[in-house]
Amino acid sequence: MVNKHLLKIKPYQPGRPIEEVKRELGLKDVVKLASNENPYPPSPKVIQALHQAARGVNRYPDGGCYYLRREMARRWKLDPRQLIFANGSDELIIMSLRALTERGDVVITAQPTFMIYAIASKVIGAKIKTVPLRSFHYDLDGMAAAVSARTRVIFIGNPDNPGGQYIPKKQIERFLKKIPKRVAVFMDEAYYEYACQERDYPDTVKLVKRYPNVIISRTFSKMYGLAGLRIGYGIANPKMIDLISRVREPFNVNSLAQAAALACVRDRSYYRGVARKIERQRSYFYRQLTGLGVPFVQTYTNFILIRVGNNARDLAKRLLHRGIIVRDMTVWGLQDYIRVTIGTQTENRKFIKVLKKSI
Ligand SMILES: *Cc1c(COP(=O)(O)O)cnc(C)c1O
Repeated sequence: MVNKHLLKIKPYQPGRPIEEVKRELGLKDVVKLASNENPYPPSPKVIQALHQAARGVNRYPDGGCYYLRREMARRWKLDPRQLIFANGSDELIIMSLRALTERGDVVITAQPTFMIYAIASKVIGAKIKTVPLRSFHYDLDGMAAAVSARTRVIFIGNPDNPGGQYIPKKQIERFLKKIPKRVAVFMDEAYYEYACQERDYPDTVKLVKRYPNVIISRTFSKMYGLAGLRIGYGIANPKMIDLISRVREPFNVNSLAQAAALACVRDRSYYRGVARKIERQRSYFYRQLTGLGVPFVQTYTNFILIRVGNNARDLAKRLLHRGIIVRDMTVWGLQDYIRVTIGTQTENRKFIKVLKKSI
């Protein structure tokens, strides 16, 4: 009756919604620092675009995302056929796997890494080969050495979640040279906007021209703060995009998401401001944690791994009961860590205050 691969899958457990925690624990004030969302509201121009688009939701959306595609192609100097839009970049992961792999094929990922890579691969019946991180950095040589005749896709989170590190340009180029062109390299750049100002962060959009096996994945969920609308996009060679498009559902990106994303890319100064605020708050975390003598992993994203000792699960629970949702990393195999999203100044102050009391 059932696709037997499903029986082996542990469902993805997202960070718990604020309302659910309020209801369950009878709390009035709950701060969520668990899903790496942007804590600030969308730009006024995005809200305005949403109001306008709301009047048109009786119609199906534009399946080709015409205006957004045109704007993004211009901005990134791409052929519009090099772009694909998805219902969140999660959907791009799923579409790519459906387009590129069959039952029994092998997918390579790091360990620990973003869980959707493995979950989506298992649904298709692909096998996962994991290559452990080395002090939170990718072991690219190990990943290249793991490639076999059955390997179809390699997932690279850059920067990765939960590690928070990025792979510099030179290492990426050296890696891509070693990977056969029949193996797709899925570069998940969900946190691109937080890392791209680093001098040696790779310009993968340029690499796509030379490497037809590279798929770049980005999202409006993280820095652009549209997590609730679900929109992400992929950049690759037109042939690769054409392949992935064959498994795309006709109206996969809704019209509100398209309108909001277009307004986002046209209001970049607002979002530069948001990114700067988050960077300032990241420094606040570093200072406070250093002051408390609590070890953490330096990060190029809007979340931070904090080493709290072998009671990570209990600590996460204590924080939850005091109205702060964080991620206990034991599910990822990081027994000593919690992952905390960088929030607004008020949220972060509350977190530090409660952490002092709970640790
Ligand atoms: C959050 C996240 C995504 C998913 O983003 P959506 O576009 O909201 O689906 C993808 N990859 C990584 C590494 C993430 O942390």
